[in-house]
Amino acid sequence: MSKSVALIGYPLKHSISPAFQQAAFDHHGLDVRYEKWETPEAELAAAVDRLRAASILGANVTIPCKEKIMPLLDELSDTAARIGAVNTVVNRSGRLMGFNTDAEGFVTSLHEDADYRLRNRKVVVLGAGGVARAVVFALLNEEVTSVAVFNRSVERGRILVRSFARAAGRIPLAAPPWTELETSVALKDCDLLVNCTSIGMRFSGTEAESPLNAGLIPKDALVYDLVYNPEETLFLKEAKKAGAETLGGLSMLVHQGAASFELWMGTKAPVDIMLRSAREALR
Ligand code: NDP
Repeated sequence: MSKSVALIGYPLKHSISPAFQQAAFDHHGLDVRYEKWETPEAELAAAVDRLRAASILGANVTIPCKEKIMPLLDELSDTAARIGAVNTVVNRSGRLMGFNTDAEGFVTSLHEDADYRLRNRKVVVLGAGGVARAVVFALLNEEVTSVAVFNRSVERGRILVRSFARAAGRIPLAAPPWTELETSVALKDCDLLVNCTSIGMRFSGTEAESPLNAGLIPKDALVYDLVYNPEETLFLKEAKKAGAETLGGLSMLVHQGAASFELWMGTKAPVDIMLRSAREALR
């Protein structure tokens, strides 16, 4: 029987996950189709029920369903529960297990594509949305020295900090107001600066913008923009010009997808093939 994996979210028009996941299945000669299931919130429960069918291996979950799907599943991995979001579902004989591979994708991309280790680094995170939660989870796990989370809505930043206070332990984790970026010592001194906002993302209406004034980019830091479309954002162009090392979001996208593939198939994902297909899909 041929099998399927679903992509659940809304809208899905611009997603490139179908391109690189299908390439991975095809590369392994697997009879598996990666299908877009456009799922507005009101239809989420019905879509989750369809995932229990024997022909469905599981799903990827994206905006706006990553949090809302949690109570509809039978079990959550510890990581998904602590991040508070699910991006991967595995169907184990009708029981639905929720995972989150974003944190793993983030750490692996730094290791593999920037040869960068997080331990003892001072980190600044821009944004406090869903992906920022996975990033902060990963940073604390990897025992960084400090994390400052700047978010446009200060309250959302504070909520994030409160929910990770226990995990942080002795690691300083703060949410200063976005308006303090200009004078921030944390920004000036950081080793790693991660953009977790959607500023600069194609189709978001902010493609021509950068989350930070060019003059504030710390030139000795690694500047990591999680936005992957376009592959090189204005933020990354300006960071390069300032003399900083840079990394774009495509690598994390592919590594989180590779981790999902491995959860469904129990076999190693062809990361190089996936990366090549993702690049082609962007063009
Ligand atoms: P959310 O909608 O959960 O969060 C969006 C974040 O961006 C919030 O912090 C929001 O601030 C901030 N933001 C949006 N517009 C502005 C603006 N004009 N000025 C200042 N802040 C702004 O989205 P996600 O966290 O899921 O995704 C964020 C980005 O990361 C997206 O572009 C997404 O494509 C990318 N991403 C990349 C991944 C990868 O693998 N490379 C994986 C997942 C996401 P506020 O709270 O104030 O609204």
